[in-house]
Amino acid sequence: MKINIAIDGPSAAGKSSVADTLAKRLGYIHLDTGAMYRMVAYLCKVKDISLDAEDEIVKALRKADVSFMTDGTIILDGAIINDDIRTEEMSMSASLVSKNPKVREALVSIQQDIAKDKGYILDGRDIGTVVLPDAEIKIYLVADPLERAKRRVLQNKIKGIDSDLEKVFEDIKARDYQDSNRKTSPLKKAQDAILIDTSDLSQDEVTEKIYEVVKEKIKEG
Ligand code: C5P
Repeated sequence: MKINIAIDGPSAAGKSSVADTLAKRLGYIHLDTGAMYRMVAYLCKVKDISLDAEDEIVKALRKADVSFMTDGTIILDGAIINDDIRTEEMSMSASLVSKNPKVREALVSIQQDIAKDKGYILDGRDIGTVVLPDAEIKIYLVADPLERAKRRVLQNKIKGIDSDLEKVFEDIKARDYQDSNRKTSPLKKAQDAILIDTSDLSQDEVTEKIYEVVKEKIKEG
């Protein structure tokens, strides 16, 4: 029996890395919905569209040739944009562009269509509450903001990007505020989500915890 798994939480709480490892272990597909908002933010930059011009953004999105490959590769109009969307500028722009209800509507509908056959792990902010309210398993990951900033700095370093801890910390807090206080689909724990604080846990420990929950669920059938 294949199920869908929703993983939500604030930025840099470890959602994507855990979802990736878990998907490989289960033979599931991981869809990083944050990358979709980042792609839209990047599209706005390339097409010189203001981040709050929602009708124009949705029009550009419909015209764009976008592919989300199962290995995480994102292709926009023929170019692989995986690295272009991972800058701090795109993090903030994604958070701003994600406030637009029509942009959310367009992306949510794509996400629901992708996940309809089950066997998917979606990570984001509104998966358990809006995108997949019927997901068989919902996880809500949290971690101390400073710990999250340190992790992001380390991840950047591994990618060869130098970043300032203080600046990353401030950006994370600003995005937490923006994502939790927007009108449409704010970042929120679904009532039936399992809360895991990852501050003192390794990525493997978090993955193991969720894996156990999934195993139980699949056994219950
Ligand atoms: O997860 P990630 O940090 O890559 O997401 C970038 C931004 O996209 C978030 O700060 C948030 O504003 C937005 N987002 C969202 N809903 C999702 C996933 C991401 O609003 N499901």
